[in-house]
Amino acid sequence: MSDAGAEPPVLSVEIARKVYRSRRAEPVEAVRGLAFRVPAGEIVCLIGPSGAGKTTTLRILLGLDRDYEGSVAPDPREAGAGVGMVFQEPRLLPWRTVEQNVRLALPRERRARDLDGLFAPLGLEPWRDRYPGALSLGMQRRVALARALALDPRLLVLDEPFVSLDDTAAAQLRAIVADTVDRLGMSVLMVTHNIAEALGLADRLLLVSARPARLVGEERLPVPRPARDRAFVEATRAALAARYPGVIAD
Ligand code: ADP
Ligand code: MG
Repeated sequence: MSDAGAEPPVLSVEIARKVYRSRRAEPVEAVRGLAFRVPAGEIVCLIGPSGAGKTTTLRILLGLDRDYEGSVAPDPREAGAGVGMVFQEPRLLPWRTVEQNVRLALPRERRARDLDGLFAPLGLEPWRDRYPGALSLGMQRRVALARALALDPRLLVLDEPFVSLDDTAAAQLRAIVADTVDRLGMSVLMVTHNIAEALGLADRLLLVSARPARLVGEERLPVPRPARDRAFVEATRAALAARYPGVIAD
């Protein structure tokens, strides 16, 4: 094996097929032939058009959907699978403060842990005692990120984390995510339909087709992240749009 001796991947996914079935509607085939690994310490971005089957894939690898053909390792049902998830919707409890929302995600024996080092770099310190309803969507996403990080995950999974934010809030959150992964060094799997976002952050791109999601390509990004300026992003976006029509909007 080419990667013999290397650390085992933090995640290994093989989805042969996922079909949504219901009595009232035609079956919807959401995924067909999507296999990939997330190596330790890598930032992997899964890119594909809206409605492709990306969120479906994330739900499967989190163990939230078990009705599919294939396998996920480590088994998400095992305790200590070490995956922290930030959903597109922040899913915060509205009647709990920011701090309570984060603490409630922790196992009981760790609920009293010190959270200063978690909140400060995310810019959440002034918001700890506020309720989610008082926060912008960008701030709510930061809370969702804090909640995922509080578990010290080996793998952080992000579903379209910057969607529906204005440019300023999106840029702030992007910088926070980049800083967080540099500081903490966990592996990341980020799903997006926005190639520019992925190019700013990823070590590796996985490109998936329109529904049913199928892996159509894999690209390693050689340039260190700080060197990825606007010109790099534009040139790479154009090259990938030509190579993967229908996956990347040009
Ligand atoms: P993406 O995240 O790439 O935008 P999704 O994984 O959310 O796409 O959805 C993929 C396809 O599966 C879409 O056509 C969507 O309408 C369909 N789908 C998602 N969830 C369900 C469900 N619970 N029942 C039926 N169809 C669904
Ligand atoms: Mg989605």
